[in-house]
Amino acid sequence: MAEVIPTDRQYPKLSKATSGYLEIELFKNADLHTGYFCYNCAYFIKDHHCAIVEDTGPDVNAVESGVIEPHGLCTLWDPNEKETR
Ligand code: SF4
Repeated sequence: MAEVIPTDRQYPKLSKATSGYLEIELFKNADLHTGYFCYNCAYFIKDHHCAIVEDTGPDVNAVESGVIEPHGLCTLWDPNEKETR
Protein backbone atom coordinates (compact mmCIF):
# COMPACT_ATOMS: atom_id res chain seq x y z
CA MET A 1 0.00 0.00 0.00
CA ALA A 2 1.33 3.41 -0.95
CA GLU A 3 2.36 5.83 1.79
CA VAL A 4 0.29 8.99 1.69
CA ILE A 5 1.80 12.27 2.87
CA PRO A 6 -0.92 14.33 4.54
CA THR A 7 -1.20 17.84 3.09
CA ASP A 8 -3.37 19.27 5.87
CA ARG A 9 -0.48 20.18 8.15
CA GLN A 10 2.69 22.26 8.13
CA TYR A 11 6.01 20.45 7.98
CA PRO A 12 9.21 21.89 9.43
CA LYS A 13 11.35 23.67 6.87
CA LEU A 14 15.12 23.53 6.59
CA SER A 15 17.22 26.37 7.93
CA LYS A 16 18.94 28.59 5.39
CA ALA A 17 22.36 27.43 6.61
CA THR A 18 21.45 23.74 6.25
CA SER A 19 20.11 24.23 2.74
CA GLY A 20 23.21 26.16 1.66
CA TYR A 21 21.17 29.29 0.96
CA LEU A 22 22.93 32.54 0.09
CA GLU A 23 22.22 35.82 -1.67
CA ILE A 24 24.54 37.53 -4.12
CA GLU A 25 23.69 41.24 -4.44
CA LEU A 26 25.43 41.49 -7.80
CA PHE A 27 22.76 39.22 -9.32
CA LYS A 28 19.84 41.29 -8.03
CA ASN A 29 19.17 42.79 -11.46
CA ALA A 30 20.17 39.74 -13.50
CA ASP A 31 17.73 37.85 -15.73
CA LEU A 32 16.33 35.53 -13.04
CA HIS A 33 14.73 33.24 -15.64
CA THR A 34 18.20 32.04 -16.59
CA GLY A 35 20.49 30.41 -14.06
CA TYR A 36 20.43 28.90 -10.64
CA PHE A 37 18.10 31.34 -8.82
CA CYS A 38 15.26 30.95 -6.32
CA TYR A 39 13.08 32.86 -8.79
CA ASN A 40 12.99 29.97 -11.25
CA CYS A 41 13.07 27.19 -8.65
CA ALA A 42 10.09 24.85 -8.28
CA TYR A 43 9.98 25.52 -4.51
CA PHE A 44 9.89 29.35 -4.73
CA ILE A 45 6.73 31.05 -3.43
CA LYS A 46 6.44 34.55 -4.90
CA ASP A 47 7.47 37.10 -3.77
CA HIS A 48 9.84 36.18 -0.91
CA HIS A 49 9.28 32.66 0.41
CA CYS A 50 10.27 29.05 -0.17
CA ALA A 51 8.21 25.90 0.36
CA ILE A 52 11.09 24.01 2.02
CA VAL A 53 13.52 26.63 3.43
CA GLU A 54 12.83 29.06 6.31
CA ASP A 55 12.62 32.82 5.64
CA THR A 56 14.45 33.68 8.85
CA GLY A 57 17.79 32.80 10.42
CA PRO A 58 21.36 33.13 9.17
CA ASP A 59 22.37 31.91 5.74
CA VAL A 60 25.74 30.30 4.92
CA ASN A 61 27.34 33.76 5.02
CA ALA A 62 25.72 34.53 8.43
CA VAL A 63 23.51 37.12 6.71
CA GLU A 64 19.93 37.42 8.05
CA SER A 65 17.77 39.04 5.37
CA GLY A 66 14.51 37.65 6.83
CA VAL A 67 13.24 36.63 3.37
CA ILE A 68 13.97 34.28 0.51
CA GLU A 69 15.16 36.59 -2.25
CA PRO A 70 14.33 35.87 -5.91
CA HIS A 71 18.06 36.28 -6.65
CA GLY A 72 19.03 33.89 -3.80
CA LEU A 73 19.92 30.24 -4.34
CA CYS A 74 20.54 27.03 -2.39
CA THR A 75 21.77 23.48 -2.94
CA LEU A 76 18.21 22.11 -3.27
CA TRP A 77 17.42 24.13 -6.39
CA ASP A 78 15.12 22.35 -8.79
CA PRO A 79 14.05 24.00 -12.06
CA ASN A 80 10.53 25.36 -12.43
CA GLU A 81 9.87 24.54 -16.10
CA LYS A 82 7.42 27.46 -16.44
CA GLU A 83 9.99 30.06 -15.39
CA THR A 84 13.25 28.64 -16.72
CA ARG A 85 14.37 29.84 -20.16
S1 SF4 B 1 16.80 27.51 -4.50
FE1 SF4 B 1 14.69 26.74 -4.36
S2 SF4 B 1 14.69 25.36 -2.62
FE2 SF4 B 1 16.48 26.68 -2.40
S3 SF4 B 1 15.80 28.43 -1.15
FE3 SF4 B 1 15.58 29.00 -3.28
S4 SF4 B 1 13.42 28.53 -3.75
FE4 SF4 B 1 13.97 27.38 -1.91
